[in-house]
Amino acid sequence: MSCPEKARQERYKLVKQKESSDLLRGNAVHAALEFAGGSPSVVELEDLHQLAEDYVHTYSSEVEVWRHEYDKLLDTVMANISVWYSELYIPGADRAEDPLLPAVSVEEPFEKSLGTRGNINLILTGTADWVAEDGVIWDWKNPSRFYEPWEKKRWDIQSHAYCYALDKTEFKLCVLANGQLQIIEIERTEQHKNAFLELCWSMVPTIMSDAETWPQNWEGYHCSPLWCPVWQAGKCRGEHLGENPW
Ligand code: SF4
Repeated sequence: MSCPEKARQERYKLVKQKESSDLLRGNAVHAALEFAGGSPSVVELEDLHQLAEDYVHTYSSEVEVWRHEYDKLLDTVMANISVWYSELYIPGADRAEDPLLPAVSVEEPFEKSLGTRGNINLILTGTADWVAEDGVIWDWKNPSRFYEPWEKKRWDIQSHAYCYALDKTEFKLCVLANGQLQIIEIERTEQHKNAFLELCWSMVPTIMSDAETWPQNWEGYHCSPLWCPVWQAGKCRGEHLGENPW
């Protein structure tokens, strides 16, 4: 949604996102939380820390773009797991009204048909981080700073997609940033889901066309040599502005 041309080049495998330390940070935390969610009994914090440390150690050699020092990255991973553990997994009494319940599924891929129009059968795919016993879908984010809740409630696409696919209404973003926790509660009603359905179908004519390029969107952090693989490959804006325009 942020840039159709970027999506086209990525989906057709014309370019590939470089492995970055941001991705490694998020993946390491995800690996630990996935282990906790899939375990039949309560897991110790030390075990999650060890798992994440091993993960970072194993996959750090694949990182192509380091935006953080190794030790700083590891500290953030540990702090994010610690705050998740103490605030959600084994919460204190102050969080008793908003608990994270045990998962009925963890990192489970879904495929959901968005219906058939003409000769097109549109399929929505994704992977939900954690679906709890009470039907709440949880998603773990590891950005460098907190989000604006109103923006996520108004514009977030992922919550629409996951609630549609899993036939749920409650989606919670658990934002882990520098050892701090933010929870954003989002409701997606039938009206939201119906609107989302049309959003998905609105992309079909472009996808089905033989257009050699799709619309570019420069407006946003994603359009930079740090984040866009098209730019990094020296195409699109990268062809004209180079690797270090700012
Ligand atoms: S450089 Fe900007 S406009 Fe071009 S594909 Fe990347 S995000 Fe889109």
